[in-house]
Amino acid sequence: MSTAIAPKVQITDVAGQITFAMRSMGVAPIPRNYELFYEAYIGSNPTLTRELAALGKNVIQQELDEIGAKYFPHHGSRVFDDAHTRLASELDAVLRALRQEQKTLESYNRLLGETSESIRSRSHNSAELLRSAIDMLATATGDTMAHGEKTVEHVVERSHEMDLVRKELDEYKRIANTDSLTRLSNRRAFEDRLISIFDNQLTRPTTALVLADIDHFKRINDTFGHPVGDKILATVASIIRANVRRDVFVARVGGEEFALILEATSIEEVTTVCERIRRTLETMPFKNSRTKIDYGPITLSLGICMASEAADSGELYNKTDLALYCAKNAGRNCSSVYQDGMQKDFTKSWLIYKN
Ligand code: GH3
Ligand code: MG
Ligand code: MG
Repeated sequence: MSTAIAPKVQITDVAGQITFAMRSMGVAPIPRNYELFYEAYIGSNPTLTRELAALGKNVIQQELDEIGAKYFPHHGSRVFDDAHTRLASELDAVLRALRQEQKTLESYNRLLGETSESIRSRSHNSAELLRSAIDMLATATGDTMAHGEKTVEHVVERSHEMDLVRKELDEYKRIANTDSLTRLSNRRAFEDRLISIFDNQLTRPTTALVLADIDHFKRINDTFGHPVGDKILATVASIIRANVRRDVFVARVGGEEFALILEATSIEEVTTVCERIRRTLETMPFKNSRTKIDYGPITLSLGICMASEAADSGELYNKTDLALYCAKNAGRNCSSVYQDGMQKDFTKSWLIYKN
C-alpha cells in the first residue's frame, strides 16, 4: 500500500495555514474561531470568507462570534446535540418508570380482588371483617390507580411537548449539517460520516469514498459571474443526488467539491455509479433559455477509494484525493480508482475510466 503522500502532512499543512492566518489577525486560538477560519479556508461560503477578511487585524472576539452566530446556529457549543440526547433519554426513562408503576398497580389490584373473592366464598368467623377490610383496601387501590392514570395522562401530555422540542432540535441539527446552497450535507456532516465508516467493521470493507470536483470551475465564475456559478453548483448537486440510490451519502465538502460515501460490493460497482454521474453531467445542457447563453459543458473529475484500502478516515480521504488528483492530471472529465503506488508526480498510467 502506498504512503508516498503522507496523509498527515497534508492535514497538518491545512491546520498550520489556518492557525497562521488566525495568529496574524490576532485571533484567539480557540475551537469556535478555528471553525470559522476553517470554513473560510475551504471556501464553501464566500460571503463568510469576505466578512472575515473585512475584519482586518486585531479582531475582537465579539465580532467573530457575531459572524459565527450568523452562519452556524450551533456556534460555540454543542448545546443542541447535548440537549437533544438528554431530552430523549430523560423522556424514555420517565415513560418506562411510569409504565412499570402502572403495571405494578394493576397486578396489585387484581391480586386483592382475587383474595377478596376467595375469602368471600369460604365460611369463616372473621370473614365479614376481612371482606370489608379488603374491600376498603381495594377501593383505596382503585383510587390510587385513578390517580396513577391521571399522572400518566399528565406525563404523556408533557411528553408531547417534549417531543415538539425534540423535533425542533432535530431541525436545528439538520440545518447545522446542511449546505444552504445545494441542500446537500455539508463538510461538518461529511467529516462525522467519514469517521463513522471506521466504527463499523462489518460494513467498512464494502464502503467506498468518492471525491468529485467540477472541472475548470473558476472559468465559469470568471466568465459568467458568481451567481451563475452558484446556480450551476446547485444543478450539479441535484444531478449527483438524482443519479445515486437514496442510501448514498452525498455532501458538498468545499467550493466546487462533492463527496459520496456508498456501500458497494466491488470497486466496479462504485465506478459504474461514478461514470453514470459523470456522463449524465457531461451531456446535460447548461443553457440560459432567456439569453441563450450556453454555460456548458460542465464536467466532473472523480477519485474513488474503498475504505478497505485505508486504516483510518484521514488515510481514506487522502487516498481518494490522490485518485482525484490523478483524474485531473489525466485530462479531467474522468474517474480514477486509487491504486497502490499512486503518487502526485504521476509517472505511471493509472486506472482511469472514460468511455
Ligand atoms: P480544476 O479543474 O483544477 O478543479 O479547476 P477549478 O477552476 O475548478 O479549480 P480551482 O480550485 O482553481 O477553482 C475553484 C473555483 O471554485 C474558485 C472559486 O471561485 C469557485 N468557488 C468556490 N466556491 C464557490 C461558490 O460557493 N460559488 C461559486 N459560484 N463559486 C465558487
Ligand atoms: Mg476544487
Ligand atoms: Mg475544480
